[in-house]
Amino acid sequence: MTSSAPTSRLTRQGADATTAGALLNIQDLRVRFELPDRTVYAANGVDLEVRSGEVFAIVGESGSGKSVSMLSVMGLVPTPPGVVTGSIRFQGQELMELNRAEMKKIRGSDIGMIFQDPMSSLNPVHPVGRQIAEALRIHRDVSRSEANQRAVDLLDRVGIPNAQGRVKDFPHEFSGGMRQRVMIAIALACSPKLLIADEPTTALDVTVQRQIVALVKELQADLGMAVVWITHDLGVVAEIADRVAVMYGGRIMETGESRDVYGHASHPYTSGLLRSIPRIDTPTRTLLPEIPGTPAPILEPLASCPFHSRCPMSAENCSELLPALEETAQTDHLSACLHLAEIGDVSQLWPIELADTADVRPDGDDVVVAVEGLKVHFPVHRGGRKRRKTVVRALDGIDMTVHRGMTM
Ligand code: SF4
Repeated sequence: MTSSAPTSRLTRQGADATTAGALLNIQDLRVRFELPDRTVYAANGVDLEVRSGEVFAIVGESGSGKSVSMLSVMGLVPTPPGVVTGSIRFQGQELMELNRAEMKKIRGSDIGMIFQDPMSSLNPVHPVGRQIAEALRIHRDVSRSEANQRAVDLLDRVGIPNAQGRVKDFPHEFSGGMRQRVMIAIALACSPKLLIADEPTTALDVTVQRQIVALVKELQADLGMAVVWITHDLGVVAEIADRVAVMYGGRIMETGESRDVYGHASHPYTSGLLRSIPRIDTPTRTLLPEIPGTPAPILEPLASCPFHSRCPMSAENCSELLPALEETAQTDHLSACLHLAEIGDVSQLWPIELADTADVRPDGDDVVVAVEGLKVHFPVHRGGRKRRKTVVRALDGIDMTVHRGMTM
């Protein structure tokens, strides 16, 4: 195992904190992309474990390293320009030592993956049933007719109505939510022990998102598989995950059981994320705290806390040392902060304030957006030769006012 980025004494302590016997155990995973004009450091010493039968969420903003870490598990980081180092053990087997052919046997068989945009993952020129059957025929010794029957069963299992009648339909004949269900059927074809779901609901509307989350949760319980759910949606994590890891700057900032991380966040970044979400019970005219600054630069090897330029607790040594995951007051709850012991109630770093009511002017001077009688109508031509012109009224007289400091 090689390592190019500097590590502090503390970094190894974090790596050693993982439990032996996990289904997936990642230690000191580093991924960099050596491009012609620059090197991008995407993962900077990731340590995590996923246990059999659990839902493990990885949450973080874009560029935090969550997807690239899981693509490394699947052996899907293009090398070159990617350079992947560290240890990835699945069921005790070191995946970093496998060649492409050996990795191909595991991918799609013992580890399945679903992606954000099912349309770009499905083959547009093959019926969906054939794509499910193909996954089975590659990895299992089954006849064509057995594989086809199993494709129907799987479509039915993931909630496609009239599965027998739709097995020969093409991807474009399904809605976005139904396409994601097809992707899940393909990923589950070989009954994997681990399903990696990379932001599978981001491209879907809220109602369909809920259906997909419920479906995966139900399948996970029925099949006893472990699920890694990658997301930036903290609401979904609270709903689905047994344990969670919060990533920032290509590192794990905090990890533990979901109820502990949500109820007793101990890292300034986690707390900032949780405090900045509007909640239904937040008083109206509340100013939510925002995390100042921009995401961590990823064009240099990481040598200090990646959050130091945005953290309200930042001290001199934060820009000099790389904190490792350390135990917090809760069992199995780790946080990577040099000043963990001093912070106390971390939520106090991100005060929620009421908007200055002196700014609320009864005469309406604090109005930021005012919409009155908004109409959007589309003329549509229907019929053959005798074309009829009708109008679709998408908006038909909308009034709306947004005041300063208001969440609508
Ligand atoms: Fe903030 Fe320093 Fe802790 Fe990083 S190590 S989270 S900068 S207090």
